[in-house]
Amino acid sequence: MQPSPVTNHYLPVDFNRQYHALAGLATEEFLSWVYAPHKPFGEVGVVTSFGAESAVMLHLIAEVAPDAPVIFIDTGFHFDETLAYRDELVSHLGLVNVRTVGLDPLSEKRSDPARDLHLKDPDACCQLRKVKVLDHALRGCDGWISGQKRYQSHERSTIDRVEWDSARGKWKFNPLADWNTADLLTYQTQHEMPAHPLASAGYLSVGCSPCTTPVKAGEEPRAGRWRQHEKLECGLHRPADVIVAAG
Ligand code: SF4
Repeated sequence: MQPSPVTNHYLPVDFNRQYHALAGLATEEFLSWVYAPHKPFGEVGVVTSFGAESAVMLHLIAEVAPDAPVIFIDTGFHFDETLAYRDELVSHLGLVNVRTVGLDPLSEKRSDPARDLHLKDPDACCQLRKVKVLDHALRGCDGWISGQKRYQSHERSTIDRVEWDSARGKWKFNPLADWNTADLLTYQTQHEMPAHPLASAGYLSVGCSPCTTPVKAGEEPRAGRWRQHEKLECGLHRPADVIVAAG
């Protein structure tokens, strides 16, 4: 489902022009424009979880802009397999500007000394360990790239490839918004990309270990996240992000 166009007075003056310049471009061309030498969008970071579907986006980035800032939020609760996969992919792709960011130990001690906030209030835990950390990490960037796809969940079914992150005042790009599982698998196979070690065990979406379970047949790819809670998203992707300029 395509998003409904709306207008927003806070959009940058060239939002419409850039939105339409990027419309219809193949993913590789899209990224080439985002990372064009004259930097039409300024500094653009790539945010990745090194999860089950991260390899495709990172391969595309490595082809177009291997020195782009790649931001990985280390919550302190990742699976060992994810950290090993991060190191493997970084080396495999030759990414030279990977920034692992996380909550500083003092803040953790003050805000969650027992490290059990994820059990009591997962929204607060994600806010502390993901959202605030990303807000800080993106301070030097004018825009960011996410690996979200529409097929992943109902909540993501209306994302667009070009958005304005109104909460952070930055461009936001979802270059793979219209890709599906077959597209990803084909690309990953064609380019002989290593798979996340947990993918074959049913982890179609890999987040923090206490909050991630394998997905059962027929479930949405993100159904294994926060299974014991109503929670569906970590908070990095806010509803206000989906703002599309009228033509
Ligand atoms: S996914 Fe779980 S452990 Fe990770 S930040 Fe969110 S609530 Fe905390």
